Amino acid sequence: MTNDPSKVDCAEFQSNLPDLIGSGQDVRNHPHLQSCELCRALLADLETIAEAARQLFPGVEPPEEVWEHIESAIRKSDRGTGGEPGMASHLQ
Ligand SMILES: [Zn+2]
Repeated sequence: MTNDPSKVDCAEFQSNLPDLIGSGQDVRNHPHLQSCELCRALLADLETIAEAARQLFPGVEPPEEVWEHIESAIRKSDRGTGGEPGMASHLQ
């Protein structure tokens, strides 16, 4: 079944996202984002969260646990979505 390979890409991309961000890569240039509006929206939400984390802990880089929380939030919000934009609205 390869009728919707983009979903596999999304799952893989999102599972790698904390590592990509954590390693300091420019995730916004990731090839997957060039073709996936859903993950672009997700990343925008993550950046909002990361910015909030920086304000909560001024002068401190977001610790690993922050990304683990984000990753678990992604897993929760990913459940039952059919590729609708705004899937991460639970995070707010
Ligand atoms: Zn995607």
